[in-house]
Amino acid sequence: MKTAKDIFLKPVSRIKGGVLVKDNKTTFDSVPKSLSVSRVVIPLLQHCTKPASAIVAVGDKVKKGQLIGDAGDATARIHASVSGTVTDISVRKIAPKEKAVCVTIESDGNDEWLETIAPPTVTDAESLIDAVFNAGLAGMGGAGFPTHIKLRSVYEAKAKTLIINSIECEPYITVDYRACIDFGDDIIRCIEALIKHIGFERVLIAEEDKKEKGDEQALIERIEKSEYKDIIKIVRLKPKYATGAEKMLIKALLGISLPEGKLPSDASCMVMNTSTAAAFGNYLLTGRPLVSRCITVAGSAIKEPANIIAPLGALISDIIDFVGGFEAKPYKLIIGGPMMGHAVDSTDYPVTKTTNGILAFAEKMARVKTETSCIRCGKCAEVCPMRIVPTDIYKAATDYGKPDINELVALNAQACILCSCCAYICPAGIPLVKGLDIGKRLVAKAKAKGAGNNGKCKESCDI
Ligand code: SF4
Ligand code: SF4
Repeated sequence: MKTAKDIFLKPVSRIKGGVLVKDNKTTFDSVPKSLSVSRVVIPLLQHCTKPASAIVAVGDKVKKGQLIGDAGDATARIHASVSGTVTDISVRKIAPKEKAVCVTIESDGNDEWLETIAPPTVTDAESLIDAVFNAGLAGMGGAGFPTHIKLRSVYEAKAKTLIINSIECEPYITVDYRACIDFGDDIIRCIEALIKHIGFERVLIAEEDKKEKGDEQALIERIEKSEYKDIIKIVRLKPKYATGAEKMLIKALLGISLPEGKLPSDASCMVMNTSTAAAFGNYLLTGRPLVSRCITVAGSAIKEPANIIAPLGALISDIIDFVGGFEAKPYKLIIGGPMMGHAVDSTDYPVTKTTNGILAFAEKMARVKTETSCIRCGKCAEVCPMRIVPTDIYKAATDYGKPDINELVALNAQACILCSCCAYICPAGIPLVKGLDIGKRLVAKAKAKGAGNNGKCKESCDI
């Protein structure tokens, strides 16, 4: 007879690099509460491809779940997250350096779903990919890549392994942990549909070893009820920051190193975030598209850290008020986790499909190290999970305002996943990630232009 023990597999490979960070996860026990707001500001760009276009006009009455932004299948669809009236469609700042067209909806307070919403009919791979598209899914772990595009590519590549990423190694954030407890049914429903229609031959649910066992137990019980229980396994990985990054996970679980430019489908697998899987499982059952998400609100300046379910487009200020406001003056506000999130200058930004955390820190914890000169200790390169040399890339990207594109290409700057391990460990407090981000953008720009060698094409240049 099969026992719970049979559900576990061991990782096949050790991950090089990474750092041990204090996890500060104080919201494991916080059952997500739903927030209602009087107004949402929904960006038509909530994913990493092209923006959607508004298909509603100012003055229109909309219902929850109604399509309001679309641009064909090259992007993720956007739906109304409350019922009410469209009062504005205009370009707004959605992050300190990013703008997008946003649809503002004043809520009528009724929270009424569109009457035509019904569970999708899924009979094969095409109808399943259509369902993912209609659900408006984009990677909810932070990457924001439209899920239907990813799914089509793995289906065409006949990928055999589905990895459900529940690692969540960013400090403070506990949304995927809660998803395993609160939405285990939805997660397994999603997995079952993907096995049946896409043809995955095994599913590996990756999670951190140190988690309390509550989440695991709920999942184990649900897996044991599945007709696919023999091919759904849980793999526990030792806690180490950056293990949850896609390429790291593939290396640990499958033993395959994916070089820069290669996709998970090249390793015959697909990596799906736990919350994305839960959202799709819910869509299969209800036909309700992605209009809200779980967010961890925490940090030393937050009065009552908690997990909440917020409608997409809710403003950070409304969310912080909902958890009791600030405990102390916030000196640093971050959307996402402290390692890969983005510092923001106001609480006036809306949350999107990729917002998994809102963190606010009081003065002591917001202090940044004083920057001094590089002491060539090599620690940044030691911890880099992508095995590149952060300090050299930083120099090539920022040197006296004259970045060297060819040097950046030679140093493989594009491989950087902006995980912040190098900046975290640097004793000199050098803001390496800023330079690495600049370097990546410069190479991508040069690549798009089709020119390397600082603008002069050269045979040996591969961009
Ligand atoms: S931010 Fe980039 S360079 Fe720094 S450790 Fe991460 S992958 Fe390596
Ligand atoms: S860790 Fe900091 S000080 Fe050490 S080599 Fe890297 S950039 Fe220089």
